[in-house]
Amino acid sequence: MNKFEQLGLNESLLLAIKDLGFENPSEVQEKAIPILLEQETDLVALAQTGTGKTAAFGFPLIQKIDAEDRSTQALILSPTRELCLQITNEIKQYSKYVKGLHTVAVYGGASITEQAREVKRGAQVIVATPGRMQDMINRGLVNIKNINYCILDEADEMLNMGFYEDIVSILSDTPDEKKTWLFSATMPAEVARIAKKFMAEPVEITVGHKNSGSATVSHEFYCVNARDRYEALKRLADANPDIFSVVFCRTKRDTQAVAEKLIEDGYNAAALHGDLSQAQRDGVMKAFRGRQIQMLVATDVAARGIDVDNITHVVNYQLPDEIETYNHRSGRTGRAGKLGTSIVIITKSELRKISAIERIIKQKFEEKTIPSGIEICEIQLLHLANKIKDTEVDHEIDNYLPAINEVLDGLSKEELIKKMVSVEFNRFIAYYKKKRDLSGEKSERSSSEPREIRAGDPVRYFVNIGARDDFDWMQLKDFLKETLDLGRDDVFKVDVKEGFSFFNTDGEHTDKVMSILNGFDLNGRRINVEISKNEGGSRDRRDHNGRSGGGERRSSGGFGGRNSGGGSFGPKKEGGFRSDRNDSPRGERSDRPRREGGFRSDSAPKRAPGSFQREERAPRRSEGNNDRPAGRSFEAAKSRRPRKS
Ligand code: ADP
Ligand code: MG
Repeated sequence: MNKFEQLGLNESLLLAIKDLGFENPSEVQEKAIPILLEQETDLVALAQTGTGKTAAFGFPLIQKIDAEDRSTQALILSPTRELCLQITNEIKQYSKYVKGLHTVAVYGGASITEQAREVKRGAQVIVATPGRMQDMINRGLVNIKNINYCILDEADEMLNMGFYEDIVSILSDTPDEKKTWLFSATMPAEVARIAKKFMAEPVEITVGHKNSGSATVSHEFYCVNARDRYEALKRLADANPDIFSVVFCRTKRDTQAVAEKLIEDGYNAAALHGDLSQAQRDGVMKAFRGRQIQMLVATDVAARGIDVDNITHVVNYQLPDEIETYNHRSGRTGRAGKLGTSIVIITKSELRKISAIERIIKQKFEEKTIPSGIEICEIQLLHLANKIKDTEVDHEIDNYLPAINEVLDGLSKEELIKKMVSVEFNRFIAYYKKKRDLSGEKSERSSSEPREIRAGDPVRYFVNIGARDDFDWMQLKDFLKETLDLGRDDVFKVDVKEGFSFFNTDGEHTDKVMSILNGFDLNGRRINVEISKNEGGSRDRRDHNGRSGGGERRSSGGFGGRNSGGGSFGPKKEGGFRSDRNDSPRGERSDRPRREGGFRSDSAPKRAPGSFQREERAPRRSEGNNDRPAGRSFEAAKSRRPRKS
């Protein structure tokens, strides 16, 4: 007898489970399923993400539903639209052999009338986000007055997101006799409050860490200077050519900015956050699942609970404000028994957070150094060699071989190999030759290096916008406050010149300033900001008077690397600054090696060597998808679980 059968599941579920390829129940399934099948009881189950909670409630629920009765019998509440769709999809797969069982997803942003229509057609199970559910109830579009089961999935996150009122109101619209099953990763006070208020002597289940994803996740941190954060991210990606990752940022804005930079730099990246339209988010998730996106840059809320298999890395580009959130992030990887790595890119001033996290996850971090250019080149070279070895040959190519042989005639095998790998490799070598190591940042800081940026110290910036862009000091200050989402006094000593300006913030905002402002599109002009060596004197509010004359020098160690030709980085003459590519340290991004498999490198025509590539943008996602060579999608299909193909 199969393990699932032993739990008491019936034939139609067992068939579906077989199709899904599940061999053994997970711990939470093993504990919850028999209880839920045998008893009519409330239940509280605490288990980390990735432990199989959906099936833990989904299987018994399906077995208990009367599919011949078309009325709504169960409501599943979940925090986000993505999760709502994910659960709906799972439930549909679990119940595919149960005739007449209908599950409908109800979530914001899509047509409410269409959803209402689907419900009306007869949906025994509704999977909903609390906001939209409340809306439907208010408009009399659903009837949950007779449901038997209410499931609160990711209860902690729903409450985190401020759904307390909605949940209370929705629950009070359900019958007292219904049973409530609450699933959560953690048990904060608010969850306990809901449990106490709405549940009667619930059975409690706790699943220990050992069976959760976290046992298969290793944790690493990389300490870098604040201004090197982005460069570090790129190197980590370059050092892991097969990376398939979620990159977490703190805000929507950072998320968008980092994703845009990655795309511009030739990576398969996309942003996922709440400001995207429904269709955009669906598109991004589809591309991510299909592995057309290797780096999904996301906010915590948008990525919460996303269940995509085989994610190799979770990257904490910035740590979350709430340390507890780290758990949710790292739970995106190491799922279903696979190994995963959770990486934290961190600055020295935040280091104490690492031990705080270690206490929560009950695991140690390994400190690592960002790989050097040489190491990355080595990795890429081997990757390339392996790729050549594993490439399947399409015999179409035979037609062209005579001509190709003619061109390559006279090259020995050794020469041929060298030249072939150099085609790709030269770009990496050329790029990294010019790059300094990020690994030495902590220990070897000479006086010519930029000083360390600390919270509490003022930091002065040079920015390539000024009076010419219709800013006076007040307008620039407003623009900065607004764009950076900073308070009234957080931007000070604003000094506007003709073609450029200076301003200060506290060191704690430096990351934000660098990541948001750099590359910001101001009416078609790309903003470039660098840290100025001069601190601009002491902090005083009369910033417009606080000019420091011609003494300001821009640091030669500005964002994106040092330029050895130092001379071009002297003080700028008024009106003399242009965001010309040669003048910007970021201009060197133009020679960044294009990644194989990148959206653009697969599809964009290759440029002649030495030509500028900067204006050559990565094609938009959809184009990238269409142009993807078949090999990739085959790979992707192979690696996907049967249920997803
Ligand atoms: P959680 O809700 O706890 O975060 P999910 O229900 O989303 O976890 O399940 C995580 C992944 O594990 C999904 O891909 C799911 O299909 C898979 N899974 C669930 N149960 C099993 C099982 N018994 N055997 C193998 N894979 C499973
Ligand atoms: Mg879940």
